[in-house]
Formats: sequence, C-alpha cells, structure tokens
Amino acid sequence: MITQATKLQFPNTETDPDVVREYYGRTQPLDGSDAAIEDAVAQAELPPLLAALSVIMQDDSLISEDLMPPTPLLLAAAVPQGGMSQEAQAKARALATGALIRARDKGWGNLSPDADLMRPALKYITKNASDHHLPLLFSELGLPFDPRRPAWQKSELAPGRDFSAIIIGGGLSGIAAAYRLSQAGIPFIGFEKSSELGGVWWNNTYPGCRLDTPNYAYSYSFAPKSDWPQAFSQRGEIFDYIQDVVEKADLRACYRLSSEVQSMRFDAASGLWTVKIRRDGKISEYQANAVIAACGGLNRPRIPEIEGQERFKGAVFHSSQWRHDVDISGKRVAVVGTGASAFQIVPSIAEKVESLFVFQRTPPWMLPTPSYHKDIAPGMLWLLARVPGYARWFRLWQFWLGSSGRLPAVKVDPKWKHPVSVSELNERLRQESLAGLVKHAGDRTDLIEKLTPNYPPGTKRLMRDDGSFVRALSRPNTHLITDGIARLTETGIETKDGAHHEVDVIVFATGFRASEFLAPIEIIGLENEVLHERWAEESRAYLGITIPGFPNLFVIGGPNSGKVINGNAINTAEFVVNYIVDTFQYMLKNAVKSVDVRWDVHDELNAVVDAVNRMRAWGAPGVTTWYQGKSGRPAIPWPFSMFDYSAKTESFRAEEYSITKIDA
Ligand code: NAP
Repeated sequence: MITQATKLQFPNTETDPDVVREYYGRTQPLDGSDAAIEDAVAQAELPPLLAALSVIMQDDSLISEDLMPPTPLLLAAAVPQGGMSQEAQAKARALATGALIRARDKGWGNLSPDADLMRPALKYITKNASDHHLPLLFSELGLPFDPRRPAWQKSELAPGRDFSAIIIGGGLSGIAAAYRLSQAGIPFIGFEKSSELGGVWWNNTYPGCRLDTPNYAYSYSFAPKSDWPQAFSQRGEIFDYIQDVVEKADLRACYRLSSEVQSMRFDAASGLWTVKIRRDGKISEYQANAVIAACGGLNRPRIPEIEGQERFKGAVFHSSQWRHDVDISGKRVAVVGTGASAFQIVPSIAEKVESLFVFQRTPPWMLPTPSYHKDIAPGMLWLLARVPGYARWFRLWQFWLGSSGRLPAVKVDPKWKHPVSVSELNERLRQESLAGLVKHAGDRTDLIEKLTPNYPPGTKRLMRDDGSFVRALSRPNTHLITDGIARLTETGIETKDGAHHEVDVIVFATGFRASEFLAPIEIIGLENEVLHERWAEESRAYLGITIPGFPNLFVIGGPNSGKVINGNAINTAEFVVNYIVDTFQYMLKNAVKSVDVRWDVHDELNAVVDAVNRMRAWGAPGVTTWYQGKSGRPAIPWPFSMFDYSAKTESFRAEEYSITKIDA
C-alpha cells in the first residue's frame, strides 16, 4: 500500500484504447500516381519496406535471397540499405513499386499481423537471425499486439493484497515502468524532482540539443511513431513524444512533480520501503512494497572545481541548465568540454556569438554521419504514413542494426599491438573516423592535430559527425583551446600557458555524475546498511537492477546495464521494466513479501562483467573515461550484446533470490 495521511486516489489507469491501438495504427490512403509511388520508393529504406510489403501482400518474392541485406559489420559509418548491391536495390525498387501500385489499385491484402507470416520477413531482414533471437525481435516488432503487456492483473492474482510501488523519476525509464504497472493494475505513485515529466528531454534545452542515436529505434515498442521528422530528431520532438505517451496513457496524474526523494529505508518486518519526499520545502513520507529507481544518470551536473570560479563576473551555467535569459548574441562565449553536449552546442551558437572559445581537454571520436541534421526524405515519410507496418519494420531494422552495434569494434585483442587502437577492427574504426575528420577539416591541419584523439574509439560516447562541429571550429570567430584551464578570473579564463581569454559567458558542458548511481538519495537497507557507503568506491548490482541487502528495490539504468555502443536507453529500460513486472507477478502469485538478490548470484555475474569489461576499449589499461567510477572500474557499460541482456532479464528467476513470504 502507499500510505500517507490522505489516501491517494489512483486514476483508472486502464490504458486508453488509442494507446493500445490496433497493431498497424492509422495509415493514410495509398493514393499516389505511379510516378509518385516510384519516386517515394526511390527515397525509401528498402529492407524494412520489402519486409513490410511481403507481409501485407503475402508475397515472398519481395524477400527473396538475392534481396537480403548483407548488413556488413558496422564500423564508423552505417552502410546505406544494409549493404545491398546496386543491382539488388534496383530490383527491390522495381518490385516494391509494383507491389504498391497493385495495392493502390486492389487494396491491401491480409492486414492481420500474424507471427507466422512475419517470420520469413524477420529472417530476411536480419539475414537469418538465429531462432533464439526471434522472440526478442518479435517483441520489438510489437507482436502479437504489445507482447510485453502484462498478461495478468493484480486484481486477479492477489485481489485482496495491498501491494504498491513507488517510481522515482519521470524520464523515459520511469514512464516505461508507469505504463506497464498501469497495465497490470498495480497501484503506484511516481515522484519527479523536476517541474515536468520528460527527464533529460525536459532538462536539456541547450541550443542544438537533439538525439544522437537513430530515432525510430529510440521509441517505445509500445508506442511506435511513424512520423519522426529527422533521422536524429531535435529535443522538442522527443519531448512532445514523451508527453504524448504520458497523456494517452493517462500517466500524468500518477506523478507528483517538483518532488525530490531524499531518503528511503527498508523495513524487513513489514517488507515496506518508507520514502521521504521533499516538495515545496516540506517533507512527507510514503510507503510502498517496492521502489523502482528510474533516476537516470545524466541529471546531476559535474562542474569541475576550478580556481577562482567565484571571481568570474559574467554568466556561468551548465549545459543542462541553459540560461535562456542570457542573450549570447554578439557576446564572447566559452564552452568548456567537447563531449556530446558541447558537440551540439558549438555549431548551434558559433554564428551567433562574437567569439567562441572552446576549451577541450580530450578530443571526441566522431563517426561520419551525413544524415545527422537531415530531414527524413519526404518520399520515405510518405510511405511510412501509408504502408501498414512499415514504421514498425523500420524501427525493428534500426534496433537490429544497433543491437550488436559497434561492440565487435571495441573488443580488445591481446595480440594487437598499437599505441592507440585495441584491435584490428578498432583500428579500422579509428581510420574511418579520422578520414571523416580530415575530410571536414580540409587545410586546417592545426584542427586535425588538435582533434585527433589518442585513445581508442569507443572508450567514450562517439559523436555523430556531418562536419558541422569542425566547420564551426574553423570559423574565424572560433578558437579551439587545448591548454588546460588554470583558473577563472573576473573577466575570463586563464589557461596553463598563461594566456587569458576574455569572455562574457561560460558554459560548462562538462558532463554529469553518471557513475554516482542513485545519489544523493540516502538508501538504507537490511541491517541499517547505507547503500552509498557500500558504493563509495565501486557501484555494483545484479544486472544493474537489484542489490543484495536492499530487497524490493529495482534500479533502471543501474551499474553495468548501459548499452554504450549498442542499443539505447529506451530499449534497456523496457527490458528492465519487463523484469520488474515479472518479479511483481511472482510476488503477487506466491504471497512473497520481499525478494533479495543472493550475494553469490550478484558476485558471480559481476566477476564476469568485470573480466569482460577489461577486454573492452573502455576497460583497457591506461584508458580513462567517464564510464569508469572512482576506482577506475567501468561502472556504466554492459559489455555484452543487447540480446544477452534481454535474455538475462527476460524473466525473474526465484532461485537467484532470497525469498521471504508474507507469513514468514
Ligand atoms: P561528457 O560526454 O561527459 O563530456 C564532458 C566534457 O567535458 C568532456 O569533453 C570532458 O573532457 C570535458 N571536461 C570535463 N571536465 C573538464 C575540465 N576540467 N576542463 C576541460 N574539459 C573538461 O558530457 P556531456 O557532453 O554532457 O554528455 C554526457 C552524456 O549525455 C553523453 O555521453 C550522452 O550519453 C548523453 N548525451 C546525449 C545526447 C543525445 O542523445 N543527443 C546529447 C548530449 C548528451 P574529458 O573527455 O577529458 O573528460
């Protein structure tokens, strides 16, 4: 139960029929001329189009062996059309155009999203993925009709039991959890410390803020969107999408905004967590059987301690707390850092400011991505709106390409001897990325020198590069400064070489306290143990989700669950939520008061994760990255594939936990 002086009223969270909509959603009539159809197909991503058409038209000739995308290994740049030959592409276009003209004239065939019909298409698009990968791929396709929807209701499993959950955080992970708990009819309340839901997509409003991972895959499997306008959409689009999911599923009323969790304590006797919340300066207490911590790792700014910070008289702020009241037009602006945020800010403001000083400690690796700022081609959008299932297949296609992602290219080969790269593939990734830099920098050899990293690619976040960053740095009013910062003065930044750079505004794009999981919440578990005392040097959890001694606490995006090079945070969140919901089902079915992951299970997995992380670029000797925690141990990355993580989190395994029954 969630108890407070006033009993909370939970809205009827049975989801809106629009949300649990029919599989294909609403599509527009296929009404174009032959030429318009042909033109649209010329702009289409072919493998998912053929897959979608083969299913609706029940036509295997659209997915014949010779049209199968070979999907070569993903290194720096994605290969167009999954590497299909020009000949295969031409044949695919002719077949798809013909099929669409037939469909326009005679109507679609069987629109039932039948898994048997989809299997050959799935095999086609994934180049014969092994059978044990198919269940996950079907789930990501949303088959059959939102398969991750809990197939049970609390009211059926344990009608008389008070069982509730608290969700900390209203970002993409928290909302995924809220969505599924609603479907299962589990009472919950969410607390969000910001004044609005949306997580990083609410907090970050800096100029140029946009996605840096393919957009169609960066959406919930239960809420696919067919009209993302860009390959990597802008912040506002993603924020609107989140709002849309929240409104349609009626989740807003389940959240308390501007409510920051201060502390939480588990009571073994009752099996309840007591959670203290601060809102408007007042503290209130709530109790629930389980806590889902979906706090996110990218919301506590890391601002370096630099001498003289208090002396600077101009405006200073962190990238995630952009001061829109400060007009930077015509000003002298410093951006400290060249990570993912700075990479987007710099090109967006370079033209506007009088002068821009970019302080770089370590250059980022940049992946050539010509589509980075581009709109989705109009013909492609036209088809996405009209071909039933195409958007789902396109999402699946991006998911599939990202599921292994660049993981093969960050594996350390102990026999590979190179001052920078860690394997032959890593070296190829390095060379391809460098070629992109050289192309964009042209005759600015000074920039090439400064922007060439001396650490293996994949060690930190890789940037999406269409040349805009280098172009911005090439401008006469922009200065890339690689001397370390010595101190701030009243009027600017002094570097270690003694130079003084006069500025009006300083933006710290210096990242977040990403490896300080769940901070600053005080979390007290069994035997009064304080979680952050255990985690002072190194944070560990089982699958990033459960922590021995802290029963009924579930973390989304916890230690070593990050797919830093393969997949995205939404996919991970959905897997974890699935696992949590499965655990709740077990608890309700079996009158379980608490579940506490066993130490041996936790330690065994962590030993493997640590050993394998040492064989990844981010764990290699001599490498430093924000993926590592205080001790230098990689705290963020999951070193295996998405499929491995999905398999591990597919279901709750009671034998891995110490289980306490209600009447024990
Ligand atoms: P970040 O990637 O951690 O980058 C921080 C930058 O600040 C690095 O270049 C770092 O240099 C530099 N820095 C730190 N302390 C410094 C100091 N004392 N002097 C000079 N430079 C200093 O942080 P972020 O750019 O905010 O991005 C964090 C994460 O957020 C990303 O990796 C990504 O996961 C996410 N993100 C996503 C998107 C997106 O999807 N669109 C956009 C932005 C961010 P070192 O490398 O030397 O430490």
